[in-house]
Amino acid sequence: MTCLKRQGLEPRERQAGRPDSDSLETMRPRAPQSTPAALKNGGRVKSTGVAPADIYRPDHNVLTPDMRSPQYVQMSTAAAITLGISKGRMYRCSCTRCLNLLLTYPEGCRANCAYCGLARHREAERDYADRNFIRVDWPAASTEQVIDIVARQGDETPFHRMCISMITHPNSDADTVSVLRQWTGRIAPETVPVSILSNPTTMTPGDVRRLRDLGADIFTVAIDAATPEIFERTRGKGVQSPHSWKKYWDILLAARDIFGLGKFGAHIIVGMGETEHDVLALVQRLVDMGGHSHMFCFFPEKGSLMDHLPATPRDQWRRVQLARHLIDYRGVRVEHMTFDGLGRVADFGLPAGELDAIIASAIPFRTSGCPGKERDDVSACDRPYGDSPPSDIASYPFQPNKRDVGKIRRQLGMPRPAG
Ligand code: SF4
Repeated sequence: MTCLKRQGLEPRERQAGRPDSDSLETMRPRAPQSTPAALKNGGRVKSTGVAPADIYRPDHNVLTPDMRSPQYVQMSTAAAITLGISKGRMYRCSCTRCLNLLLTYPEGCRANCAYCGLARHREAERDYADRNFIRVDWPAASTEQVIDIVARQGDETPFHRMCISMITHPNSDADTVSVLRQWTGRIAPETVPVSILSNPTTMTPGDVRRLRDLGADIFTVAIDAATPEIFERTRGKGVQSPHSWKKYWDILLAARDIFGLGKFGAHIIVGMGETEHDVLALVQRLVDMGGHSHMFCFFPEKGSLMDHLPATPRDQWRRVQLARHLIDYRGVRVEHMTFDGLGRVADFGLPAGELDAIIASAIPFRTSGCPGKERDDVSACDRPYGDSPPSDIASYPFQPNKRDVGKIRRQLGMPRPAG
């Protein structure tokens, strides 16, 4: 077994006496401020009514056009660069393998999640299509144009997967169906399979079934918070947001029954005040149900209600990434691991040599999400720099090289064994 303590190789932060699992008390969101009536529900965009052009690149200094799904969608900056509709280069990435499409409305998302840049409390400060989300801008284009580009690429498309991200809006169920229909009408599921990042709050099991029947491949639920308490504080009544832990689990269980084994998953954000054991117990629960977990390292998103809080310490994040990989893909169970008094992983439950080979492969430290065409444990959804800056990478959107692995080992406090 590989025990951090036994090796005397404790991570730097722990050696310096710093608690490396940020406490529930520390990770408290700010309270949302009220919004003037005229600016609520996309009032500024709807009252000016600027007609959209082909592409809209977020710019807070110009009037945001009146764009609405299903005719328009937003996409990650990485997807826009890969599609060729935005110029730019990404650090050590030539493209993204996942075309993340986000539904868009002047009213924006009606939820208020504390860590999210799209949240409703930003209505006065920034129009919806100008808001940053997982650290990047989301350009908008007509849905038809986006689908047309990928359809013309055919088998040569760089995308291994497309994902429709629903938001909390009264039209998002119907518009997700419409975007999915448009997509599958032009692009075969074998060429680019589709994932749905759902919005359980407005959905019924019937909606889940409909998306499967229309050709969606994988269904995911962004639980995000690892415990009911953190969920309530960051996504529920704590921030005047409509979500409930129970409804999220009801839809996740429906997805298990409807989409089946290996075809559903849950997003979890690491570092919002939960313990490492809390997260990994949830990862184990998902595996026992037949699903997967997709992990995000907490980053203080600019403009969010948690933008004043610290990003997840790297040693904490690396332990959770490694342990999650072992549970999801290597048959290790959370009960095989040991945890210290603060719920931190103290032993990963594998012989040292085996664990070292897995660390050397670097696969556990790549971005996690729905699979692409490379291998089952490598995500198509690579989200370049969605949870960290390139200078201090949390989720690697590419295969880490030897130097990267050396850095990861230092962050874990587990240097390569001698010999
Ligand atoms: S529902 Fe999703 S998009 Fe809306 S505020 Fe919450 S995390 Fe952000």
